[in-house]
Amino acid sequence: MTLRRIQISQPSMGEEEWHAVREPLTSGWLTQGPKVAAFEKVFADRHDVAHAMAVTSCTTALHLALDAMGIGPGDEVIVPSFTWVATANAVLYCGGTPVLCDVDPTTYNIDIASMKSKVTENTKAVIAVHLFGLCADMDGIRAALPASVKVIEDAACAAGASYKGRPAGGLGDAACFSFHPRKSITTGEGGMLTTDDAALAERANMLRNHGASISEEQRHQGPQPYLLAAFDELGFNYRMTDVQAAIGLVQLAKLDRFIEERDRRARYYREALADIDWLRHPQPPNSGSHAWQAYVMYVDPKRAPLARNEIMGKLHALGVATRPGTHSVHMLGYYRKRFGHQIDDLPGARDCEQNTMAIPLHNRMDDDDYKYVVDCLKRLDSGNA
Ligand SMILES: *Cc1c(COP(=O)(O)O)cnc(C)c1O
Repeated sequence: MTLRRIQISQPSMGEEEWHAVREPLTSGWLTQGPKVAAFEKVFADRHDVAHAMAVTSCTTALHLALDAMGIGPGDEVIVPSFTWVATANAVLYCGGTPVLCDVDPTTYNIDIASMKSKVTENTKAVIAVHLFGLCADMDGIRAALPASVKVIEDAACAAGASYKGRPAGGLGDAACFSFHPRKSITTGEGGMLTTDDAALAERANMLRNHGASISEEQRHQGPQPYLLAAFDELGFNYRMTDVQAAIGLVQLAKLDRFIEERDRRARYYREALADIDWLRHPQPPNSGSHAWQAYVMYVDPKRAPLARNEIMGKLHALGVATRPGTHSVHMLGYYRKRFGHQIDDLPGARDCEQNTMAIPLHNRMDDDDYKYVVDCLKRLDSGNA
């Protein structure tokens, strides 16, 4: 077996992205402008949602969504613990309290019974994370909550995913996407806030641009040069640049092809590795489509020949990059110190942090790369690595 180097993730960029940035760079319109507007329009259409607002990241999209909903001190927002830290941090940025609940280790998504047990009279919202591209059970979540509680999708990993035939992005009161290079389409950094709620969209739109009542573009094109915007709210600068949006438009046109290929590769892993009984494969969606932001396996600690970290070390030595699925927020130092969480408080999330292992799955790998990953895991299984 000749040694290969396979990265955990690699963005897929080509000549088209290179050409696409020419126009904003030469036109002089660099910040949020016509390219952002076009990107938003195509993104909203693809995800079947009325409003889409491009921002600097999924983190700032989450902050904007919560802020536009009026979340503040005294308000509780329920967040599944097994997620990227940003999901919970966004609640703290608003002065609200993130209340962490457990996840289901078979889907890696929110455990509805645990979520329900955390609801109090102060609960204002739940952030349903579509982790690694699998949509959370949105109908089950909605049905378990009082009608006044808002549901926000953390769709950072779920561009192009669907749930019961409906795309992510319009499944709750608002949704937040990421275009970080670890996600399936990227603009370097970047995010998108989507909603069907016109009033929420209007507030978020104003808040992303310093709280200004009119946009720079409107001012630029308007006939009244003396006009200044009104600033009646405390806003932020979370605008995406037109350079990023030009790249985003090209990437978005490739999204369905990227997902189709990832889905095919995921099926290959599932079949080729079926005989390894200590590796559990990620759950395919009951009805809908997985976006496969990552292929995250669960290493059964009772059956595996080695501890997960040793397995990851051996794969690294063979040139195959792996990562833990993600961390559990209740186990992170800042959250433990501030909220007194104990590691065993949320056993599902604890086990997911300790036992998950993402293996390479992205659009820059070829047939031989996938076969190599499979061969390495089989060698480990037979004790030859
Ligand atoms: C990547 C990610 C984020 C953060 O996205 P950024 O665009 O980097 O801010 C938030 N939540 C989840 C679940 C993620 O995977």
